Amino acid sequence: MSKTLDEFKQYLTEMNQYNHVTELIFWDMQTAVPKLGQDAHVEAVTYFSAKSFAMGTSEKLGELLETLAAPGEYEALDDTWKFIVTRMKRDYDRNKRIPAEVYEAYVRAQAESGNAWKEAKAASDFSAFAPHLKKMIDMTAELAGYTDPDMEVYDALLNQYEEGMDSATIDGLFDDLKKELIPLVKQIIAKPYTHPQEFFAYADPDAQRKVQWMLLDYIGFRRDAGAVGETEHPFTMNFSSKDVRVTNHYYENAPLSSMFSAIHEGGHGIFEQNVNPAYDNTVAGSCNYMGIHESQSRFYENILGRRRSFWEPIYDKLCELLPQFQKVSLDEFYREINQVENSMIRTEADELTYCFHVILRYEMEKAIFREHVPVEELPKLWNQKMQEYLQIIPANDAEGILQDTHWSDGSFGYFPSYLLGSIYDGMFLEAIEAELGSVDELLSEGRIGEITEWLNQKIHRYGSTRLPKDVIAKVCGKEVSAEPLIRYFKEKYTKIYELA
Ligand code: ZN
Repeated sequence: MSKTLDEFKQYLTEMNQYNHVTELIFWDMQTAVPKLGQDAHVEAVTYFSAKSFAMGTSEKLGELLETLAAPGEYEALDDTWKFIVTRMKRDYDRNKRIPAEVYEAYVRAQAESGNAWKEAKAASDFSAFAPHLKKMIDMTAELAGYTDPDMEVYDALLNQYEEGMDSATIDGLFDDLKKELIPLVKQIIAKPYTHPQEFFAYADPDAQRKVQWMLLDYIGFRRDAGAVGETEHPFTMNFSSKDVRVTNHYYENAPLSSMFSAIHEGGHGIFEQNVNPAYDNTVAGSCNYMGIHESQSRFYENILGRRRSFWEPIYDKLCELLPQFQKVSLDEFYREINQVENSMIRTEADELTYCFHVILRYEMEKAIFREHVPVEELPKLWNQKMQEYLQIIPANDAEGILQDTHWSDGSFGYFPSYLLGSIYDGMFLEAIEAELGSVDELLSEGRIGEITEWLNQKIHRYGSTRLPKDVIAKVCGKEVSAEPLIRYFKEKYTKIYELA
């Protein structure tokens, strides 16, 4: 091994210690820290991420990357280290342009804004969050100006979450969906349906925790490399492929919520657990493309998890753990988990109207960064769009504009990833069925492991080393298109709702 590569690896090892501690504090802030302890954690997370940022932008790292990227040294690297050096050099050059004090102020504002959002949401008071939101918008745009000076701000943000994706492409995909789904949902909504009351009967949170593990085991989330925590808003994080954490929230009268969150976050978790371990703690590991990431969580949650065949092998077990389901047939259960209705909360929405929740947020973000709509006017715009796409208006900010955490930590440009994920899923489903045969057959025969294995081999193990459009090209042999997803929706819901 070259002397420089050796030195570079040592440098990364030290930098990882700071990242590791930062992540650990973040995990603790989300899952355990009491209200009065928050401030000290904000201090600590600011301190350690500033250290990591300093190492990530140091002259020393710059020199190492420069040397390794030079002819001679570079050719001697294997493919993994070629990727790592190229990616890190690009990120180094981008981050180097951010003044350290600007970055530190951003991290601090991010933590404060997160806390303010929590309180504002609990009090359902947008005005308490508005100044923090304005700050996050301004600082996010400022940072993008440093990292991507040649890109339009919102395209730069989209590119940060799904590299290679821009608003022109997304406009086209989302327009195709709108054109087909608006009339489809209208037809469905016209069909009367009454929710069986069993779905809202008391569900012991401890029983829900057991159901969560039953589901995680079933889809292939590994216990020896995984852990579960509790948070208001479920998420997944990972230290490496060997330590992946998912969270959940257990509503006493809505057990379906934690069940589908478990499957969703489990999908993210399975992805991370199956990235090539040789990539651990480098930029090659942990998939950085949120559209691709969401495609995996949403594949398990919707494409698999909302099929009757998914539940066939485990329905008895579910009824044992949550006895209210003993009075519900599997057919009734299947009908309920595919009930389409216009509702306020994105994370609780069915897979069809979910598309409108994302399109709404995407249009809001374009309004924020392109039309510079003032923060105070955002709740009104939100409500207008709810009326337009879902024909309902939130009664308060908590069930309206304050419902999601994303904007509070500056994750503007993230929302479209969810729907891009579903769009990719339509394509992946086609590819899987072409290679493995009917997904329903596999599932009802208890062969879900073969589907997980296929996803491991085709998608997961590459981590960040394949760009989204390359993943699509390699797996599906064509460019991204919303057609397969539209076809899947039409076939499935025409059957369930007996549409003409
Ligand atoms: Zn997700």
